[in-house]
Amino acid sequence: MTPEICPNCDAEVPPGARACPECGADEDTGWSQGAYCDRLGIPDPDEEFDREEFVKNEFGPAEKPSRIKVIWIITALVLAGLLLLMAF
Ligand SMILES: [Zn+2]
Repeated sequence: MTPEICPNCDAEVPPGARACPECGADEDTGWSQGAYCDRLGIPDPDEEFDREEFVKNEFGPAEKPSRIKVIWIITALVLAGLLLLMAF
């Protein structure tokens, strides 16, 4: 269906036009339901909300490496302490 206003660039689309005269958006690229949602910042209702993916994006990648880093720092400190004890 052709919208009256192009959701991509807000240009007026002539009734019956197959593509936006301004930006060339058409049913395939421009004014689908998904394009409307992207523009408004609303998740596509057709797309299921993937909680696991959301959590991974929000907290996941940063958490694990930092924990591993702390373990390595502790290990390095322990080793340094042992070397100091052995030196004396
Ligand atoms: Zn347009």
